[in-house]
Amino acid sequence: MIKIKNIQKTFGNNTILRGIDLDIVKGQVVVILGPSGSGKTTFLRCLNALELPEAGTIEFENNPLNIDFTKKPNKKDILALRRRSGMVFQQYNLFPHKTALQNVMEAPVQVQGKSKSQAEVEALKLLEKVGLADKADLYPHQLSGGQQQRVGIARALALQPELMLFDEPTSALDPELVQDVLQTMKELAQEGWTMVVVTHEIKFALDVADVVVVMDGGVIVEQGFPDDLFANPQHERTRSFLSRIA
Ligand code: ATP
Repeated sequence: MIKIKNIQKTFGNNTILRGIDLDIVKGQVVVILGPSGSGKTTFLRCLNALELPEAGTIEFENNPLNIDFTKKPNKKDILALRRRSGMVFQQYNLFPHKTALQNVMEAPVQVQGKSKSQAEVEALKLLEKVGLADKADLYPHQLSGGQQQRVGIARALALQPELMLFDEPTSALDPELVQDVLQTMKELAQEGWTMVVVTHEIKFALDVADVVVVMDGGVIVEQGFPDDLFANPQHERTRSFLSRIA
């Protein structure tokens, strides 16, 4: 279980997160939905300290790690948090001058100090997992957006994080490329990876999520099982959001 409590984040005078509480059960997929500007991306970035909240705690129960943002966590804790969570970005963020294989090998070699030969064997397995074994030696510009995103997923998996974070992973893709990426994510969910996914893909949420969380105005307005939440939303703001995207 990963317990997140009272995450608060302000940019200048603009309070974006107003106290987010969320329990993430190992092996579950949590999908975060909500209108543009509601703070979904900011929340996800707080979960691996790409943004530092002013308040709140994150507690990993397995091999315990407790981060209290109110007390300004030290560098060691922040690095520990980053190693527990792998991030997949909307814009892939691959290194443009490295091949797919080198992109996936980079963190295990640089961060974990693995030998290049071991990192290469593992990276090839990950590329195979995301269906790109035959693209290992290609550079990002030689790959489609969907393929680049799957390299991004393999790269995040390479550090074997406890928690995989996906920030609108398909929203930059042409519609015909979206399904391959969602299929890869579905397979990861079936393998038991713990995932938090910010997305607008309602069908993915219905098919794959264990829990759907709806954010609005920097708070969680509602959360529940996908079938219940979509069929019978309890909160007016959820109803209004769902009616706009349906
Ligand atoms: P979308 O669905 O459009 O991606 P979102 O729910 O993910 O939206 P965020 O990207 O978290 O929302 O943004 C929430 C608010 O925080 C926005 O008003 C945004 O302008 C603001 N914000 C995000 N990052 C920063 C930053 N680094 N500096 C200042 N304001 C920011």
